[in-house]
Amino acid sequence: MSKAVTGGFRLSRVINAAGTMTSLGSSLVVPEAIEAAASIQQQFVKIDELHARATGAEAGLVTACSASGMVLAIAATMTGLDLARIERLPDVTGLPSEVVVQAGHLINYGAPIAQAIRLAGAEVVVAGTAAQVETFHIEDAITEQTAAALFVVSHHVVQDGQTDLPEFIAICKARGIPTIVDMASEYDLRGAIARGADIAIYSAHKFLGGPTAGIIAGRKKLVQACFLQNGGIGRPMKVGKEGIIGTIAALEAWAQRDHAAIKAKEDCAIHYWLEELSSVTGLACDIHADWTGNPIDRLRVSVRPVEAGLYAWELADRLANRDPAIYVRDDLVEHGYFFLYPCNLKPGDEKEIVAAMRDILASARIQGDGLCASFTERRRRKLAAHLRWPD
Ligand SMILES: *Cc1c(COP(=O)(O)O)cnc(C)c1O
Repeated sequence: MSKAVTGGFRLSRVINAAGTMTSLGSSLVVPEAIEAAASIQQQFVKIDELHARATGAEAGLVTACSASGMVLAIAATMTGLDLARIERLPDVTGLPSEVVVQAGHLINYGAPIAQAIRLAGAEVVVAGTAAQVETFHIEDAITEQTAAALFVVSHHVVQDGQTDLPEFIAICKARGIPTIVDMASEYDLRGAIARGADIAIYSAHKFLGGPTAGIIAGRKKLVQACFLQNGGIGRPMKVGKEGIIGTIAALEAWAQRDHAAIKAKEDCAIHYWLEELSSVTGLACDIHADWTGNPIDRLRVSVRPVEAGLYAWELADRLANRDPAIYVRDDLVEHGYFFLYPCNLKPGDEKEIVAAMRDILASARIQGDGLCASFTERRRRKLAAHLRWPD
């Protein structure tokens, strides 16, 4: 495979039609953030001063990422501003330390969210069952031992039967329980706080196009308690000055960004794909709106195996094994479709994707080498490959 030279390393060229994925380097960082992060490298700063000015909420803090933001926020709800308690974590002796989460919100975003809760020393209390969480389940899960309640806004959560955010907040508020909202991958940076959440958590490296970092925004006392965790369990998840200033720059750029123009450009790529791919034998395409209301569409490509000569996951894998490697969003591929995301394309990528798909399908028809690996076999193979790292 040909390798592009990046910073002295020879790296495989990647076309990203999968959206913002940690495994692919998240997003194209905006120039403002690159400039800010680069310029601070040759400077000393008062790091606490830098930490103090992050977002538009009552207070904000930059963290290493959203996952660490969750650890810090949960820790904050248990310790408050008590430095002895902060240094004692994850020992929670004598502290309320239960965190209530709806069953359908116990996702894996690359690691299990329950583990982020337990890392702080807290215990997960599950409300309801996978696709049915009534308000009484949440009320019943809250006890004297409850430190916080965690709500997840994401397409990863179970989409049916969960209690919605306003109701969730209302239940917690009535019982004096702080609500932490993980909305790592959402556009709306203000909605949860406006609805009364105590803490909202975002990733800097997803839609914001910032460096790898996270943002905790919300109630001042709680954010202050999050900040103090840097002298405790936050230390092994430290964010550097470049991450902090790069995130601030990305937030400022986000406020200035011409969102309509970017959306129009993304729509253009989607319509191009729709037109080009709909006529390909074995494929059926439609435009899919966002699950959680973000203003981003994607193209769903359904593969009819017999006509295409390939299963959807075989097509996705063959795209990823090419040079350049083309990644599509395949987390729902067992249903026979994957998505093409337009948000991280470089000029010309959309055309290269179409050409590659045509090429793979034509060659599969000629060779008759598709329809070999069931989804279960593919899953087994991917797991085995993961365990073989770095080979
Ligand atoms: C991406 C994501 C995370 C993890 O975010 P990082 O900043 O990469 O740690 C957590 N929760 C949700 C819902 C996500 O989409």
